[in-house]
Amino acid sequence: MLTVMIVGLAKGSTVMISRHIGEKKNDKVAKSVGNTIVIFMSISIVITAILLCLTKPIVSVMAMPEEAVNGTINYLIVCFIGIPFITAYNIISSIFRGLGDTKSPMYFIAVACVCNIALDFLFSKTMKINEGEVPQYYVENSHPAIIDPEEWKKVQEEYQRRKEAVKRTACHSPFAGKVICGDCGEWFGPKVWHSNSQYRRLIWQCNHKFKGGEKCATPHLTEDALKEYTRQALSFLIENREALIEDGRLIKQALSDHTEIDAELRAIVEEMEVVAGLIEKSIATNAITALGQDEYAKSYESLTERYQGLQKHYTALTKQRADKEYKADVLSCFLFELGELELLDTEWSDSRFHAIVERITVYNDGRLVFTFRNGSEETVMM
Ligand SMILES: [Zn+2]
Repeated sequence: MLTVMIVGLAKGSTVMISRHIGEKKNDKVAKSVGNTIVIFMSISIVITAILLCLTKPIVSVMAMPEEAVNGTINYLIVCFIGIPFITAYNIISSIFRGLGDTKSPMYFIAVACVCNIALDFLFSKTMKINEGEVPQYYVENSHPAIIDPEEWKKVQEEYQRRKEAVKRTACHSPFAGKVICGDCGEWFGPKVWHSNSQYRRLIWQCNHKFKGGEKCATPHLTEDALKEYTRQALSFLIENREALIEDGRLIKQALSDHTEIDAELRAIVEEMEVVAGLIEKSIATNAITALGQDEYAKSYESLTERYQGLQKHYTALTKQRADKEYKADVLSCFLFELGELELLDTEWSDSRFHAIVERITVYNDGRLVFTFRNGSEETVMM
């Protein structure tokens, strides 16, 4: 706005100067030039000073969000300091135009434009995505959800499971994280024997040493042996398959039934709403009546405690529900693989082994106890 006003007023001097040039009155030309410079520069300096003093009041009447206030103040200060320079440019070009030289102001502005572009590139920070350096805003319910929360939760659980599965198969063996030492309860680890010869073998053993450097007495097992014992254990499963599948289905049904937990969750939510209402009411009452402050503090505290208790219970129940869902998933994978299990000498499959066997515990008396995903156990002798 100021620039436009200056441009308009400076037109007046252009007219005056060109008239005196036409009349060939050089002293009047000089006087007009001098007057223009003095008047415009003093006005612009006064305006700049006033505006710089008023920066903060100006920002405050603009109803600015708090985070933007400092930035706005800095921006305005830079703008205001620029006023004398804008004025100087405009009066110089109006004088030149009055003198009949319209080309110089054009070159002047052309050079300024190029400088502006070059300096922008030099000094502007490169654009980057806001990663929390400045406040980020999250707008709730602004658009319909792309996936529903239930589905999102399932995907998260699946991610978690895969992450754990990757950890488990880090050494590319199905037995990693599956075999436990019956002496100390530690996992069996893989070890390569004769790594440089043709007798190279991968064996599994407990590497745990007790005080005094004594190692566990549990035997080591080759990968092939573990697969063979697994086949034997699975043959027991096949024998009892019908009963196991039927039992498993019943358990799965119970695990997939969330009516009780859901009812309890709903009741808790309702109670939380009631308690929240009571808290609000007690705050409102306290504001308008002269109730004893001790009494108020006591009732407020007991209400918030009750609310927090409900919140804790709610979280615990949600976790319980998720655990049940997970167990039902594991069991249904187990039942599926059990149903598919046909012959003892079917090809080894890592994924089937994962779905059916929870862990193998090795004891020093040569017992291998297989714990299956449905919770049942089978013992195989070495
Ligand atoms: Zn051990």
